[in-house]
Amino acid sequence: EPTLIDKVALVVGGSRGIGAAIVRRLAANGASVALTYANSAEKAAETARAAVAHGQPVIAIKADSADPKAVVDAVAQTIARFGHLDILVVNAGILIRGTVDKYDLADFDRMIATNVRGVFVAIQASCPHLREGGRIITIGSNTAVRTVFPGASVYSMTKGAVASLVRGIAIDLAPRGITVNNVQPGPTETDMTAAYAEMVKPLVPLGRLGKPEEIAGLVAYLASPEAGFITGSSQTIDGGYVA
Ligand code: NDP
Repeated sequence: EPTLIDKVALVVGGSRGIGAAIVRRLAANGASVALTYANSAEKAAETARAAVAHGQPVIAIKADSADPKAVVDAVAQTIARFGHLDILVVNAGILIRGTVDKYDLADFDRMIATNVRGVFVAIQASCPHLREGGRIITIGSNTAVRTVFPGASVYSMTKGAVASLVRGIAIDLAPRGITVNNVQPGPTETDMTAAYAEMVKPLVPLGRLGKPEEIAGLVAYLASPEAGFITGSSQTIDGGYVA
């Protein structure tokens, strides 16, 4: 559906997995897209090539979300190329597991820097460029609702932080007509879950993992003009996992 014609989107963390599916879907719906990545230059180029086939420009920018300056630069490069911004999707996130007794503080700091501060900085840097009707969508996790397994306390904390952050920022930006929402996937088929797929599958009422394209579909809806009255929400999409 061409609901995003003439829109400009920035997908922070768009080279692989859920982020790559979001890039492809937003481009398919008519948006011009900038994506960032930290390490996977080849995957980023591949995703950009697939997305550009829909007819709109797509660019890939190397920017580690744990580095605030890199994130600010990525937003500036997006504006330099496309002139403005309508949709910001902050998808970049990492999972470093470990139980509380053994968790390394350097890993704790990395998790916060990427999954929380990186989200805040991307939103802050994008704020001045978002127009009326703008959209901010974060990718949290259903672990913000229910953690289930040992070793996931820090990850769950970062995603809980994102859910809270989104509520406050939604109120901050409401006067400008910008909506801010958080998508909380459950186990989804990506590199991140490859090692856990068989373990979690029986716990999902629908009996399978989610597909990145299904998460991207919800993001595309929240990005569309039709979703203009949804703001400050966290939308769980997990096959009934936390039901
Ligand atoms: P993947 O590990 O498959 O992909 C992560 C993506 O984010 C890659 O494009 C990666 O770039 C990018 N990224 C990671 N760290 C950084 C960074 N520091 N700076 C810039 N980009 C970065 O993860 P998923 O697709 O599975 O997850 C995407 C999001 O969804 C994450 O926030 C995750 O927490 C969340 N999520 C995932 C679930 C799942 O089951 N898969 C469930 C719930 C939430 P690069 O290729 O360069 O590394």
